[in-house]
Amino acid sequence: MVATILVVEDEREIAQLVRDYLERAGFGTTWAGDGDRAVEQVRNGRPDLIVLDLGLPGRDGLDVIREVRALGQTPVVILTARGEETDRIVGLELGADDYIVKPFSPREVVARVRAVLRRAAGPDDDRRVLRRGTMEIDIPRMRVIVDGRQIELTATEFQLLVTLARRPGQVFTRGQLLDAVRGDAFEGYERAIDAHIKNVRRKIESDSAKPMFIQTVYGVGYRFAEE
Ligand code: CA
Repeated sequence: MVATILVVEDEREIAQLVRDYLERAGFGTTWAGDGDRAVEQVRNGRPDLIVLDLGLPGRDGLDVIREVRALGQTPVVILTARGEETDRIVGLELGADDYIVKPFSPREVVARVRAVLRRAAGPDDDRRVLRRGTMEIDIPRMRVIVDGRQIELTATEFQLLVTLARRPGQVFTRGQLLDAVRGDAFEGYERAIDAHIKNVRRKIESDSAKPMFIQTVYGVGYRFAEE
């Protein structure tokens, strides 16, 4: 089945360029020029992934992410201008899966979209359920249960959790975690990992200030607690 990518960008030339490259790479595309139309399309068209420019007229990109996350788990790749670091972090904290900095090469967009879709589909070598204390991670079903409660994670958060939980006690640097969730390593952006970890903790830990599952290793990175 051909995956459909919704491109949300008010600048028509950029939108067209991105669509051309995605279509050449074998994806179907649709377009929305503002935030309201984007949300409308997510509601009705159910795209497989959204490429979302944060600089939109009217309803802004961050607000669109909030709305999209309220509707479901559709993967989101955000486009940001250089220097808009805060927006990027906020975007990731709101649940965007990845980001691309403008000016970008259209090839980079295609590679990121592929990587995020692959992540969303889950690695096909996994047919296992990991049990870690009160947590159960059903890898094929992309399902996490803590204390009998099902936890909703984005594709990126899930991948991050699985990477850590596969090797309890092993310390992963932010760079390693970035590689693990990206698949394709472009420019490193290690603070993005902190934003994702913060999200995962908020969802799986009963007290994020005293995490029982994912521990911070100061100056190095993170590790999953040993039992
Ligand atoms: Ca724009």
